[in-house]
Amino acid sequence: MGDLFDNTENLFVKLAKFEEVYHQLKDAIIEWTEKGQGVYHWTDADSKQYEHKASMKQNGALIRCSNPRCRQGGFNLEQELSSLAVGKQKKIKNFKKCMGFEQATPGQNRINCLNGIDYKITLVYK
Ligand SMILES: [Zn+2]
Repeated sequence: MGDLFDNTENLFVKLAKFEEVYHQLKDAIIEWTEKGQGVYHWTDADSKQYEHKASMKQNGALIRCSNPRCRQGGFNLEQELSSLAVGKQKKIKNFKKCMGFEQATPGQNRINCLNGIDYKITLVYK
């Protein structure tokens, strides 16, 4: 697993923060399937099920990238969560690319990390 993009200033990292920002929500459930380096698929490739599921209230909006060479990567879904909540919508399904990069040695050219996730966010209103 690569190191994580440091974005703690913009993230609700504590339980209280989620409730402060999204007081109308009980929770937001994120489901995703990652594609790319460091990802091992044990499930049927044609499966319509997402491989991972997590509570954004408990775990925040940042998903780690599995690419072991990825630097400052991850999938930050706070913007998507925020737009859903503002628009009083319930669900979104989309694809998101990792925001990290690969760099073998310092000074070498950076290559964008090519990992991505198919995700679905479901808001649970109070
Ligand atoms: Zn990455």
